[in-house]
Amino acid sequence: MNSESGEAIFSTRPAPYAAADAISRGRRYAEPSPTYRSEFQRDRDRIIHAAAFRRLEYKTQVFVNHEGDLFRTRLTHSIEVAQIARSIARALQLNEDLTEAIALAHDLGHTPFGHAGQDALNACMKEYGGFEHNLQSLRVVDELEEKYADFPGLNLTFETREGILKHCSGKNALELGELGERFLKKQQPSLEAQLTNLADEIAYNSHDVDDGLRAELIHIDQLNEIALFHQQYQEVKQRYPDLSQRRTIHEVVRRLINCQAVDLVQASNQQLKQFCPADLESVRRQPQPLITFSDSMRKLNHELKRFLRNHLYRHYRVHRMSAKAMRVIRDLFDAFFNDPRLMPEEAQQRVAELTDQTGTMGQARAVADYIAGMTDRYAIKEHARVYNPEKLT
Ligand code: MG
Repeated sequence: MNSESGEAIFSTRPAPYAAADAISRGRRYAEPSPTYRSEFQRDRDRIIHAAAFRRLEYKTQVFVNHEGDLFRTRLTHSIEVAQIARSIARALQLNEDLTEAIALAHDLGHTPFGHAGQDALNACMKEYGGFEHNLQSLRVVDELEEKYADFPGLNLTFETREGILKHCSGKNALELGELGERFLKKQQPSLEAQLTNLADEIAYNSHDVDDGLRAELIHIDQLNEIALFHQQYQEVKQRYPDLSQRRTIHEVVRRLINCQAVDLVQASNQQLKQFCPADLESVRRQPQPLITFSDSMRKLNHELKRFLRNHLYRHYRVHRMSAKAMRVIRDLFDAFFNDPRLMPEEAQQRVAELTDQTGTMGQARAVADYIAGMTDRYAIKEHARVYNPEKLT
């Protein structure tokens, strides 16, 4: 990645504070080391082969999947996050393999229909421990993917699992053992986890601008009142006054991504120089994250986020879709929780197993797992199959 001035900072030598195989806290079930791959490459590969990863193709964040083929899905979002995060990791001499694994896994636990789906499922689960997509991503890689002969889940390294768990309540942290410790001790995760979190923000802010414009829910004139967008737009217009609208927007969006990533590298480099952590353990003990935007970029970023919240996420057309989505999730939960025999056999078995373990808490959790695993279109079909008398199976 280059700053616009052409200055390049490249070295493939890992920094002393980067994560590395040799200092990994390992896997929950011990396994021999891979032959031609690093431990974190193996994590990345297992994530790519997971069913939950493939389902990201048909899950959405803001727009419902069938609204158009050009909009981002959670799969393309995860790939964009991985691309941005890897570039930043290389520039900061951090572990690219770990960064990529975290980025590709970070959204695995998302429900169908984006945030609306998550809010609805969380409300359904209120009396049964709640539903949180972060924790669910961890559940997916630790338990729900059933593929390997020797262990449940994907048996990922501690570092990848730590990166997936961005935040967590004190109550949940107590139940998570080693992984919950950092929340109780107020410690930081690895730099790779910190940067992936911010790469996620860069990715969704920029692509929501792009998708929002394409859907004509927001307009250039409105965005030009937002400093971060306006700066880039002016530059593109001055340099390429005759460029078509479509190419202008793409050029602005790519510059939005680049300027935030460059800022992140520069500001984080400064922090790393100032605090000089000797190793990963010392990164963990820092009172605050060392991977950050500059103060000025953070403010610009907030302004853009606020704009997207008010004009895109709360747009009546998005809200109509969200309201429908919430109804679908609530209806499915009610139907399955009250009568688990309406669920497919495999899901019924999970309900029986978890009910044996923890009674109605377990019953609700198994229903939530089943619903959270659905794609947007599968949830819509299931809803019709359960509620619409004209659909017989
Ligand atoms: Mg994300």
